[in-house]
Amino acid sequence: MPEDGVQAAEQAPRVIVFDTTLRDGEQSPGATLTADEKLEVADALVELGIDVMEAGFPAASPGDFEAVRTIAGRVKGVTVAGLARCNEADIERAAQAVKGAEAARIHTFIATSDIHLKHKLRLTRDEVLERVDRMVRLAKGFTSDVEFSAEDATRSDWDFLTRVFATAIAAGATTVNVPDTVGYTSPTEYAALMEHLIATVPGIEHAVISVHCHDDLGMATANTLSAVRAGARQVEVTMNGIGERAGNTSLEEVVMALATRSEQFGGVSTRIRKERLVPTSRMVSMLTGVPVQPNKAIVGANAFAHEAGIHQDGMLKERTTYEIMNPTDVGWEGTKLVLGKHSGRAGFRNTLQEIGIRLDEEQLNEAYHRFLTLADRKKAVTAADLAALVSDQLEAADDVLQLVRWNASIGSSGPATGSIVVSRDGREVSGDGQGNGAVDALFEAIDDAVGISCELEEYNVEAVTPGEDAQGQVRLRVRSGDQVYTGHGLATDVIEASARAYIAALSKIIQGEPTAIIPGPVSAVSRWS
Ligand SMILES: [Zn+2]
Repeated sequence: MPEDGVQAAEQAPRVIVFDTTLRDGEQSPGATLTADEKLEVADALVELGIDVMEAGFPAASPGDFEAVRTIAGRVKGVTVAGLARCNEADIERAAQAVKGAEAARIHTFIATSDIHLKHKLRLTRDEVLERVDRMVRLAKGFTSDVEFSAEDATRSDWDFLTRVFATAIAAGATTVNVPDTVGYTSPTEYAALMEHLIATVPGIEHAVISVHCHDDLGMATANTLSAVRAGARQVEVTMNGIGERAGNTSLEEVVMALATRSEQFGGVSTRIRKERLVPTSRMVSMLTGVPVQPNKAIVGANAFAHEAGIHQDGMLKERTTYEIMNPTDVGWEGTKLVLGKHSGRAGFRNTLQEIGIRLDEEQLNEAYHRFLTLADRKKAVTAADLAALVSDQLEAADDVLQLVRWNASIGSSGPATGSIVVSRDGREVSGDGQGNGAVDALFEAIDDAVGISCELEEYNVEAVTPGEDAQGQVRLRVRSGDQVYTGHGLATDVIEASARAYIAALSKIIQGEPTAIIPGPVSAVSRWS
Protein backbone atom coordinates (compact mmCIF):
# COMPACT_ATOMS: atom_id res chain seq x y z
CA MET A 1 0.00 0.00 0.00
CA PRO A 2 3.08 2.33 0.26
CA GLU A 3 2.74 3.88 -3.17
CA ASP A 4 0.02 6.48 -3.62
CA GLY A 5 -1.48 3.34 -4.96
CA VAL A 6 -4.77 3.65 -3.23
CA GLN A 7 -6.67 2.06 -5.97
CA ALA A 8 -8.49 5.19 -7.00
CA ALA A 9 -11.60 5.43 -9.11
CA GLU A 10 -12.04 1.99 -10.62
CA GLN A 11 -13.28 0.76 -7.16
CA ALA A 12 -11.21 -2.44 -7.20
CA PRO A 13 -13.02 -5.25 -5.31
CA ARG A 14 -10.76 -4.70 -2.40
CA VAL A 15 -11.78 -2.79 0.71
CA ILE A 16 -9.11 -0.77 2.48
CA VAL A 17 -9.11 -1.34 6.23
CA PHE A 18 -8.35 1.93 8.01
CA ASP A 19 -7.84 1.16 11.68
CA THR A 20 -8.31 3.97 14.20
CA THR A 21 -7.97 1.93 17.40
CA LEU A 22 -5.02 4.12 18.42
CA ARG A 23 -6.92 7.37 17.75
CA ASP A 24 -10.73 7.10 18.00
CA GLY A 25 -10.45 3.83 19.96
CA GLU A 26 -8.13 5.38 22.52
CA GLN A 27 -10.68 8.16 23.00
CA SER A 28 -12.92 5.63 24.78
CA PRO A 29 -13.26 6.82 28.35
CA GLY A 30 -10.61 5.02 30.45
CA ALA A 31 -8.85 3.39 27.49
CA THR A 32 -5.71 5.56 27.49
CA LEU A 33 -2.59 3.66 26.38
CA THR A 34 1.01 4.38 27.38
CA ALA A 35 3.55 5.06 24.62
CA ASP A 36 4.91 1.49 24.91
CA GLU A 37 1.43 -0.02 24.83
CA LYS A 38 0.64 1.97 21.67
CA LEU A 39 3.70 0.42 20.01
CA GLU A 40 2.58 -3.08 21.05
CA VAL A 41 -0.85 -2.46 19.56
CA ALA A 42 0.68 -0.93 16.43
CA ASP A 43 2.81 -4.04 15.85
CA ALA A 44 -0.20 -6.31 16.37
CA LEU A 45 -2.28 -4.27 13.90
CA VAL A 46 0.47 -4.56 11.27
CA GLU A 47 0.55 -8.32 11.79
CA LEU A 48 -3.23 -8.38 11.48
CA GLY A 49 -2.89 -6.94 7.97
CA ILE A 50 -4.59 -3.55 8.16
CA ASP A 51 -3.91 -1.12 5.30
CA VAL A 52 -3.94 2.26 7.06
CA MET A 53 -3.19 2.96 10.75
CA GLU A 54 -4.45 6.20 12.24
CA ALA A 55 -1.81 6.41 14.93
CA GLY A 56 -3.10 9.48 16.73
CA PHE A 57 -3.86 13.21 16.69
CA PRO A 58 -0.41 14.85 16.77
CA ALA A 59 -1.68 18.36 17.62
CA ALA A 60 -3.68 17.03 20.58
CA SER A 61 -0.72 16.59 22.96
CA PRO A 62 3.09 16.15 22.99
CA GLY A 63 2.47 12.51 23.97
CA ASP A 64 0.23 11.95 20.93
CA PHE A 65 2.73 13.68 18.66
CA GLU A 66 5.54 11.49 19.99
CA ALA A 67 3.50 8.28 19.66
CA VAL A 68 2.57 9.02 16.02
CA ARG A 69 6.17 10.00 15.18
CA THR A 70 7.57 6.81 16.78
CA ILE A 71 5.03 4.54 15.09
CA ALA A 72 5.62 6.26 11.74
CA GLY A 73 9.33 5.50 11.98
CA ARG A 74 8.77 1.91 13.05
CA VAL A 75 6.00 0.14 11.14
CA LYS A 76 6.34 -1.26 7.62
CA GLY A 77 3.79 -2.29 5.02
CA VAL A 78 1.02 0.01 6.22
CA THR A 79 0.19 3.67 5.67
CA VAL A 80 0.49 5.75 8.86
CA ALA A 81 -2.03 8.57 9.21
CA GLY A 82 -2.01 11.54 11.55
CA LEU A 83 -5.29 13.34 12.22
CA ALA A 84 -5.53 17.15 11.93
CA ARG A 85 -8.27 19.75 12.08
CA CYS A 86 -8.52 22.01 9.03
CA ASN A 87 -5.99 24.56 10.29
CA GLU A 88 -2.32 25.28 9.60
CA ALA A 89 -0.96 24.38 13.03
CA ASP A 90 -2.64 20.94 13.14
CA ILE A 91 -1.66 20.05 9.59
CA GLU A 92 1.97 21.10 10.04
CA ARG A 93 2.13 19.17 13.32
CA ALA A 94 0.65 16.07 11.64
CA ALA A 95 3.05 16.40 8.72
CA GLN A 96 5.95 16.54 11.16
CA ALA A 97 4.73 13.46 12.98
CA VAL A 98 4.20 11.22 9.93
CA LYS A 99 7.26 12.48 8.03
CA GLY A 100 9.36 9.39 8.80
CA ALA A 101 6.73 6.91 7.66
CA GLU A 102 7.33 4.48 4.77
CA ALA A 103 3.89 5.70 3.57
CA ALA A 104 2.43 8.77 5.21
CA ARG A 105 -1.07 10.17 5.18
CA ILE A 106 -2.47 13.42 6.58
CA HIS A 107 -6.11 13.05 7.55
CA THR A 108 -7.78 16.44 7.88
CA PHE A 109 -11.38 17.13 8.81
CA ILE A 110 -13.90 19.91 9.33
CA ALA A 111 -17.56 19.69 10.31
CA THR A 112 -20.19 20.33 7.62
CA SER A 113 -23.53 20.01 9.39
CA ASP A 114 -25.51 23.16 10.17
CA ILE A 115 -25.55 22.18 13.86
CA HIS A 116 -21.73 22.23 14.01
CA LEU A 117 -21.34 25.29 11.76
CA LYS A 118 -23.76 27.28 13.88
CA HIS A 119 -22.92 26.14 17.40
CA LYS A 120 -19.33 24.87 17.28
CA LEU A 121 -17.41 26.43 14.38
CA ARG A 122 -19.48 29.60 13.87
CA LEU A 123 -18.53 29.51 10.19
CA THR A 124 -20.64 29.91 7.07
CA ARG A 125 -20.78 27.22 4.42
CA ASP A 126 -18.69 29.35 2.07
CA GLU A 127 -16.08 29.85 4.78
CA VAL A 128 -15.94 26.08 5.22
CA LEU A 129 -15.46 25.54 1.48
CA GLU A 130 -12.65 28.10 1.42
CA ARG A 131 -11.00 26.42 4.44
CA VAL A 132 -11.26 22.94 2.89
CA ASP A 133 -9.62 24.11 -0.32
CA ARG A 134 -6.75 25.89 1.42
CA MET A 135 -6.05 23.21 4.03
CA VAL A 136 -6.18 20.20 1.69
CA ARG A 137 -3.75 22.04 -0.61
CA LEU A 138 -1.52 22.73 2.42
CA ALA A 139 -1.56 19.04 3.40
CA LYS A 140 -0.90 18.01 -0.19
CA GLY A 141 2.29 20.02 0.04
CA PHE A 142 3.54 17.60 2.67
CA THR A 143 2.31 14.24 1.33
CA SER A 144 0.51 13.02 -1.78
CA ASP A 145 -1.79 10.85 0.34
CA VAL A 146 -4.37 13.20 1.84
CA GLU A 147 -7.66 12.14 3.38
CA PHE A 148 -10.44 14.65 3.92
CA SER A 149 -13.37 14.06 6.30
CA ALA A 150 -16.64 16.01 6.47
CA GLU A 151 -17.38 15.62 10.18
CA ASP A 152 -21.06 14.94 10.98
CA ALA A 153 -21.64 14.29 7.26
CA THR A 154 -24.76 12.22 7.85
CA ARG A 155 -26.54 15.19 9.41
CA SER A 156 -25.26 17.57 6.73
CA ASP A 157 -27.10 18.95 3.71
CA TRP A 158 -26.42 16.57 0.83
CA ASP A 159 -25.97 19.28 -1.82
CA PHE A 160 -23.52 21.11 0.41
CA LEU A 161 -21.65 17.82 0.96
CA THR A 162 -21.33 17.46 -2.83
CA ARG A 163 -19.65 20.88 -3.00
CA VAL A 164 -17.40 20.12 -0.02
CA PHE A 165 -16.12 16.84 -1.45
CA ALA A 166 -15.75 18.33 -4.91
CA THR A 167 -13.61 21.07 -3.38
CA ALA A 168 -11.50 18.61 -1.39
CA ILE A 169 -10.87 16.37 -4.42
CA ALA A 170 -10.03 19.33 -6.63
CA ALA A 171 -7.55 20.42 -3.95
CA GLY A 172 -5.90 16.98 -4.08
CA ALA A 173 -7.65 14.75 -1.56
CA THR A 174 -7.15 11.09 -2.52
CA THR A 175 -9.62 9.73 0.05
CA VAL A 176 -12.91 11.37 1.04
CA ASN A 177 -14.49 10.18 4.26
CA VAL A 178 -18.22 10.42 5.04
CA PRO A 179 -18.44 10.06 8.82
CA ASP A 180 -21.60 9.16 10.71
CA THR A 181 -20.01 10.99 13.63
CA VAL A 182 -22.90 10.63 16.05
CA GLY A 183 -24.20 7.22 14.93
CA TYR A 184 -27.40 8.76 13.53
CA THR A 185 -27.85 7.21 10.08
CA SER A 186 -29.42 3.95 8.96
CA PRO A 187 -28.22 1.41 6.38
CA THR A 188 -30.67 2.51 3.66
CA GLU A 189 -30.08 6.22 4.22
CA TYR A 190 -26.30 5.78 4.28
CA ALA A 191 -26.33 3.76 1.06
CA ALA A 192 -28.47 6.43 -0.59
CA LEU A 193 -25.96 9.09 0.51
CA MET A 194 -23.14 7.06 -1.08
CA GLU A 195 -25.11 6.82 -4.31
CA HIS A 196 -25.86 10.56 -4.18
CA LEU A 197 -22.16 11.43 -3.79
CA ILE A 198 -21.03 9.00 -6.51
CA ALA A 199 -23.60 10.54 -8.85
CA THR A 200 -23.00 14.20 -8.06
CA VAL A 201 -19.38 14.83 -6.92
CA PRO A 202 -17.13 15.77 -9.83
CA GLY A 203 -13.87 13.77 -9.75
CA ILE A 204 -15.19 11.28 -7.20
CA GLU A 205 -13.81 8.49 -9.42
CA HIS A 206 -10.32 9.80 -8.61
CA ALA A 207 -10.75 9.30 -4.89
CA VAL A 208 -11.53 6.46 -2.51
CA ILE A 209 -14.85 6.82 -0.69
CA SER A 210 -14.42 6.04 3.00
CA VAL A 211 -16.91 5.51 5.78
CA HIS A 212 -16.56 6.02 9.53
CA CYS A 213 -19.46 5.00 11.76
CA HIS A 214 -20.32 5.23 15.43
CA ASP A 215 -22.59 2.79 17.26
CA ASP A 216 -24.94 5.09 19.18
CA LEU A 217 -27.97 3.26 17.77
CA GLY A 218 -26.22 -0.07 17.38
CA MET A 219 -26.06 0.20 13.57
CA ALA A 220 -22.37 1.03 13.01
CA THR A 221 -21.46 -2.28 11.37
CA ALA A 222 -24.68 -2.49 9.34
CA ASN A 223 -24.22 1.10 8.14
CA THR A 224 -20.61 0.44 7.16
CA LEU A 225 -21.50 -2.71 5.23
CA SER A 226 -24.39 -1.00 3.51
CA ALA A 227 -22.05 1.77 2.40
CA VAL A 228 -19.56 -0.78 1.04
CA ARG A 229 -22.38 -2.39 -0.93
CA ALA A 230 -23.14 1.08 -2.33
CA GLY A 231 -19.55 1.73 -3.39
CA ALA A 232 -17.42 2.77 -0.40
CA ARG A 233 -13.98 1.19 -0.57
CA GLN A 234 -12.41 2.20 2.73
CA VAL A 235 -13.83 1.30 6.13
CA GLU A 236 -12.70 3.07 9.31
CA VAL A 237 -12.86 0.67 12.20
CA THR A 238 -11.46 -0.21 15.62
CA MET A 239 -10.62 -3.48 17.29
CA ASN A 240 -13.51 -4.65 19.51
CA GLY A 241 -15.43 -1.58 18.31
CA ILE A 242 -13.96 0.61 21.04
CA GLY A 243 -14.26 4.39 20.60
CA GLU A 244 -16.09 7.55 21.65
CA ARG A 245 -19.38 7.01 23.50
CA ALA A 246 -20.93 3.73 22.24
CA GLY A 247 -17.84 3.07 20.13
CA ASN A 248 -16.93 2.69 16.47
CA THR A 249 -17.58 0.07 13.83
CA SER A 250 -15.70 -3.01 14.93
CA LEU A 251 -13.00 -4.28 12.61
CA GLU A 252 -13.68 -7.96 13.29
CA GLU A 253 -17.38 -7.70 12.44
CA VAL A 254 -16.87 -5.92 9.11
CA VAL A 255 -14.02 -8.18 8.08
CA MET A 256 -15.89 -11.40 8.85
CA ALA A 257 -19.18 -10.17 7.35
CA LEU A 258 -17.35 -9.34 4.11
CA ALA A 259 -15.56 -12.71 4.20
CA THR A 260 -18.60 -14.81 5.13
CA ARG A 261 -21.18 -13.04 2.91
CA SER A 262 -19.01 -11.40 0.24
CA GLU A 263 -21.66 -12.10 -2.40
CA GLN A 264 -23.85 -9.61 -0.54
CA PHE A 265 -21.18 -6.91 -0.85
CA GLY A 266 -20.07 -7.02 -4.45
CA GLY A 267 -17.49 -9.76 -3.91
CA VAL A 268 -15.10 -7.38 -2.15
CA SER A 269 -12.34 -8.64 0.15
CA THR A 270 -9.79 -7.34 2.65
CA ARG A 271 -6.20 -8.38 3.25
CA ILE A 272 -6.79 -9.00 6.96
CA ARG A 273 -5.21 -12.21 8.40
CA LYS A 274 -8.35 -13.46 10.03
CA GLU A 275 -6.66 -15.95 12.33
CA ARG A 276 -5.10 -12.93 14.09
CA LEU A 277 -8.48 -11.43 15.02
CA VAL A 278 -8.95 -13.11 18.41
CA PRO A 279 -5.34 -12.66 19.62
CA THR A 280 -5.40 -8.98 18.59
CA SER A 281 -8.77 -8.47 20.25
CA ARG A 282 -7.44 -9.96 23.48
CA MET A 283 -4.35 -7.77 23.42
CA VAL A 284 -6.30 -4.57 22.82
CA SER A 285 -8.76 -5.48 25.57
CA MET A 286 -5.98 -6.28 28.00
CA LEU A 287 -3.94 -3.13 27.30
CA THR A 288 -6.88 -0.70 27.21
CA GLY A 289 -8.61 -2.38 30.13
CA VAL A 290 -11.85 -2.34 28.13
CA PRO A 291 -13.38 -5.82 28.49
CA VAL A 292 -15.03 -7.58 25.55
CA GLN A 293 -18.63 -8.57 26.34
CA PRO A 294 -19.03 -12.38 26.23
CA ASN A 295 -21.73 -12.24 23.54
CA LYS A 296 -19.69 -9.93 21.26
CA ALA A 297 -19.66 -11.14 17.65
CA ILE A 298 -16.51 -12.98 16.53
CA VAL A 299 -14.30 -12.17 19.55
CA GLY A 300 -16.68 -12.55 22.53
CA ALA A 301 -15.96 -15.53 24.82
CA ASN A 302 -19.32 -17.08 23.90
CA ALA A 303 -19.14 -16.29 20.18
CA PHE A 304 -18.50 -19.96 19.40
CA ALA A 305 -19.74 -21.51 22.63
CA HIS A 306 -22.73 -23.78 22.48
CA GLU A 307 -24.62 -24.80 25.62
CA ALA A 308 -28.12 -25.75 24.55
CA GLY A 309 -28.51 -29.50 24.14
CA ILE A 310 -30.18 -29.24 20.75
CA HIS A 311 -27.34 -27.07 19.46
CA GLN A 312 -24.72 -29.41 20.84
CA ASP A 313 -26.41 -32.36 19.24
CA GLY A 314 -26.50 -30.56 15.88
CA MET A 315 -22.91 -29.39 16.27
CA LEU A 316 -21.65 -32.87 16.98
CA LYS A 317 -23.36 -34.20 13.89
CA GLU A 318 -22.42 -31.33 11.58
CA ARG A 319 -20.64 -28.17 12.79
CA THR A 320 -22.34 -25.93 10.24
CA THR A 321 -25.74 -26.66 11.72
CA TYR A 322 -25.04 -23.85 14.21
CA GLU A 323 -21.82 -22.19 13.06
CA ILE A 324 -21.49 -19.95 10.01
CA MET A 325 -17.76 -19.46 10.55
CA ASN A 326 -15.05 -21.81 11.71
CA PRO A 327 -13.78 -20.55 15.08
CA THR A 328 -10.21 -21.53 14.30
CA ASP A 329 -10.34 -19.29 11.21
CA VAL A 330 -10.53 -16.24 13.48
CA GLY A 331 -8.03 -17.46 16.04
CA TRP A 332 -10.06 -19.42 18.57
CA GLU A 333 -8.73 -22.76 19.69
CA GLY A 334 -11.95 -24.34 18.45
CA THR A 335 -15.63 -24.67 19.13
CA LYS A 336 -16.57 -24.62 22.79
CA LEU A 337 -19.26 -26.97 23.89
CA VAL A 338 -20.10 -25.34 27.15
CA LEU A 339 -21.63 -27.66 29.66
CA GLY A 340 -24.47 -26.04 31.50
CA LYS A 341 -27.96 -26.90 32.62
CA HIS A 342 -29.29 -26.57 29.05
CA SER A 343 -26.80 -29.07 27.69
CA GLY A 344 -28.09 -32.35 26.35
CA ARG A 345 -26.85 -35.91 26.74
CA ALA A 346 -25.03 -35.80 23.40
CA GLY A 347 -22.92 -32.84 24.47
CA PHE A 348 -22.39 -34.39 27.89
CA ARG A 349 -21.27 -37.75 26.46
CA ASN A 350 -19.06 -35.97 23.94
CA THR A 351 -17.27 -33.96 26.60
CA LEU A 352 -16.73 -37.08 28.72
CA GLN A 353 -15.16 -38.81 25.73
CA GLU A 354 -12.99 -35.77 25.05
CA ILE A 355 -11.53 -36.10 28.55
CA GLY A 356 -11.13 -39.82 28.14
CA ILE A 357 -14.07 -41.04 30.22
CA ARG A 358 -16.18 -43.84 28.78
CA LEU A 359 -19.27 -45.02 30.69
CA ASP A 360 -21.88 -47.64 30.02
CA GLU A 361 -25.48 -46.49 29.52
CA GLU A 362 -26.47 -46.96 33.14
CA GLN A 363 -23.44 -45.14 34.47
CA LEU A 364 -23.95 -42.40 31.87
CA ASN A 365 -27.55 -41.89 33.04
CA GLU A 366 -26.43 -41.62 36.67
CA ALA A 367 -23.58 -39.24 35.77
CA TYR A 368 -25.84 -37.11 33.56
CA HIS A 369 -28.33 -36.84 36.43
CA ARG A 370 -25.56 -35.75 38.82
CA PHE A 371 -24.26 -33.33 36.20
CA LEU A 372 -27.64 -31.65 35.82
CA THR A 373 -27.87 -31.26 39.61
CA LEU A 374 -24.42 -29.70 39.63
CA ALA A 375 -25.18 -27.49 36.62
CA ASP A 376 -28.17 -26.10 38.49
CA ARG A 377 -25.80 -24.96 41.24
CA LYS A 378 -22.74 -23.99 39.23
CA LYS A 379 -22.48 -21.41 36.42
CA ALA A 380 -19.98 -23.27 34.26
CA VAL A 381 -19.16 -26.95 34.58
CA THR A 382 -15.56 -27.66 33.62
CA ALA A 383 -13.83 -30.83 32.51
CA ALA A 384 -12.24 -30.98 35.98
CA ASP A 385 -15.71 -30.93 37.52
CA LEU A 386 -16.83 -33.78 35.30
CA ALA A 387 -13.78 -35.88 36.04
CA ALA A 388 -14.25 -35.39 39.80
CA LEU A 389 -17.98 -36.04 39.56
CA VAL A 390 -17.59 -39.30 37.59
CA SER A 391 -14.71 -40.64 39.71
CA ASP A 392 -16.75 -39.86 42.83
CA GLN A 393 -19.72 -41.66 41.30
CA LEU A 394 -17.70 -44.73 40.32
CA GLU A 395 -15.92 -44.78 43.69
CA ALA A 396 -19.20 -44.53 45.59
CA ALA A 397 -21.08 -46.88 43.28
CA ASP A 398 -20.25 -50.00 45.30
CA ASP A 399 -20.65 -48.32 48.68
CA VAL A 400 -23.23 -50.12 50.75
CA LEU A 401 -24.28 -46.79 52.25
CA GLN A 402 -25.67 -44.03 50.02
CA LEU A 403 -26.57 -40.49 51.11
CA VAL A 404 -30.28 -39.75 50.69
CA ARG A 405 -30.64 -36.32 52.37
CA TRP A 406 -29.23 -34.28 55.20
CA ASN A 407 -29.80 -31.20 57.24
CA ALA A 408 -27.63 -29.18 59.63
CA SER A 409 -28.14 -26.03 61.60
CA ILE A 410 -25.56 -23.96 63.37
CA GLY A 411 -25.71 -20.85 65.47
CA SER A 412 -23.96 -18.97 68.23
CA SER A 413 -26.32 -20.27 70.88
CA GLY A 414 -25.39 -23.86 71.56
CA PRO A 415 -24.03 -26.81 69.64
CA ALA A 416 -24.73 -27.41 65.98
CA THR A 417 -27.31 -30.08 65.15
CA GLY A 418 -27.50 -32.41 62.21
CA SER A 419 -29.91 -35.02 60.84
CA ILE A 420 -29.30 -37.49 58.06
CA VAL A 421 -30.96 -40.19 56.01
CA VAL A 422 -28.81 -42.83 54.33
CA SER A 423 -29.87 -45.91 52.43
CA ARG A 424 -28.32 -49.28 53.16
CA ASP A 425 -29.08 -52.09 50.77
CA GLY A 426 -32.06 -50.04 49.58
CA ARG A 427 -33.44 -49.53 53.11
CA GLU A 428 -33.42 -45.98 54.48
CA VAL A 429 -32.10 -45.31 58.00
CA SER A 430 -31.96 -41.91 59.71
CA GLY A 431 -29.95 -40.37 62.53
CA ASP A 432 -29.50 -37.17 64.50
CA GLY A 433 -26.44 -35.61 66.09
CA GLN A 434 -25.00 -32.62 67.82
CA GLY A 435 -21.52 -31.30 67.56
CA ASN A 436 -18.94 -28.62 67.37
CA GLY A 437 -20.00 -27.29 63.97
CA ALA A 438 -22.18 -28.64 61.18
CA VAL A 439 -19.74 -31.29 59.93
CA ASP A 440 -19.20 -32.71 63.43
CA ALA A 441 -22.96 -32.78 64.08
CA LEU A 442 -23.55 -34.60 60.78
CA PHE A 443 -20.86 -37.16 61.51
CA GLU A 444 -22.62 -37.80 64.82
CA ALA A 445 -25.92 -38.16 62.98
CA ILE A 446 -24.35 -40.67 60.54
CA ASP A 447 -22.92 -42.70 63.43
CA ASP A 448 -26.41 -42.65 64.98
CA ALA A 449 -28.07 -43.76 61.72
CA VAL A 450 -25.58 -46.48 60.87
CA GLY A 451 -24.81 -47.59 64.40
CA ILE A 452 -21.03 -47.46 63.92
CA SER A 453 -18.54 -45.06 65.52
CA CYS A 454 -14.92 -44.54 64.66
CA GLU A 455 -12.07 -42.10 65.16
CA LEU A 456 -11.40 -39.40 62.56
CA GLU A 457 -7.65 -39.42 61.89
CA GLU A 458 -7.36 -37.14 58.89
CA TYR A 459 -9.59 -34.62 57.17
CA ASN A 460 -8.71 -32.67 54.02
CA VAL A 461 -10.77 -30.29 51.92
CA GLU A 462 -9.79 -28.93 48.50
CA ALA A 463 -11.62 -27.17 45.69
CA VAL A 464 -11.94 -28.99 42.36
CA THR A 465 -11.95 -25.74 40.38
CA PRO A 466 -11.38 -22.02 41.22
CA GLY A 467 -14.41 -19.80 41.93
CA GLU A 468 -16.84 -19.40 44.77
CA ASP A 469 -19.21 -22.02 43.33
CA ALA A 470 -16.45 -24.61 43.07
CA GLN A 471 -17.04 -28.25 43.94
CA GLY A 472 -15.41 -29.17 47.27
CA GLN A 473 -13.56 -32.45 47.53
CA VAL A 474 -13.17 -33.98 50.98
CA ARG A 475 -10.78 -36.83 51.71
CA LEU A 476 -10.69 -38.28 55.20
CA ARG A 477 -9.32 -41.22 57.09
CA VAL A 478 -10.97 -42.93 60.07
CA ARG A 479 -9.77 -45.57 62.46
CA SER A 480 -11.79 -48.48 63.76
CA GLY A 481 -9.73 -50.62 66.05
CA ASP A 482 -6.39 -50.99 64.39
CA GLN A 483 -7.72 -50.61 60.89
CA VAL A 484 -7.97 -47.35 59.00
CA TYR A 485 -10.38 -46.57 56.23
CA THR A 486 -10.46 -43.70 53.80
CA GLY A 487 -13.44 -41.92 52.38
CA HIS A 488 -13.91 -39.40 49.57
CA GLY A 489 -16.81 -37.04 48.99
CA LEU A 490 -17.65 -34.37 46.42
CA ALA A 491 -20.26 -31.60 46.39
CA THR A 492 -20.55 -27.85 45.83
CA ASP A 493 -21.37 -27.67 49.55
CA VAL A 494 -18.37 -28.70 51.66
CA ILE A 495 -20.62 -29.91 54.50
CA GLU A 496 -22.32 -32.31 52.06
CA ALA A 497 -18.95 -33.33 50.64
CA SER A 498 -17.80 -34.13 54.22
CA ALA A 499 -20.91 -36.25 54.89
CA ARG A 500 -20.41 -38.12 51.61
CA ALA A 501 -16.75 -38.79 52.50
CA TYR A 502 -17.64 -40.05 55.98
CA ILE A 503 -20.40 -42.29 54.61
CA ALA A 504 -17.93 -43.68 52.07
CA ALA A 505 -15.46 -44.52 54.86
CA LEU A 506 -18.17 -46.19 56.95
CA SER A 507 -19.22 -48.19 53.91
CA LYS A 508 -15.71 -49.56 53.76
CA ILE A 509 -15.87 -50.50 57.44
CA ILE A 510 -19.12 -52.36 56.79
CA GLN A 511 -17.67 -53.97 53.66
CA GLY A 512 -14.49 -54.82 55.55
CA GLU A 513 -12.24 -52.94 53.15
CA PRO A 514 -9.62 -51.28 55.31
CA THR A 515 -7.09 -49.11 53.56
CA ALA A 516 -4.44 -50.28 55.96
CA ILE A 517 -3.94 -51.99 59.23
CA ILE A 518 -2.04 -49.77 61.64
CA PRO A 519 -1.81 -51.11 65.16
CA GLY A 520 -3.13 -48.54 67.56
CA PRO A 521 -3.50 -46.54 69.49
CA VAL A 522 -2.20 -43.73 67.18
CA SER A 523 -3.27 -40.52 68.91
CA ALA A 524 -6.65 -40.10 67.29
CA VAL A 525 -7.33 -36.61 66.01
CA SER A 526 -10.13 -35.27 68.20
CA ARG A 527 -12.67 -34.44 65.65
CA TRP A 528 -11.74 -30.80 65.50
CA SER A 529 -8.47 -30.14 67.34
ZN1 LIG B 1 -15.15 8.80 15.20
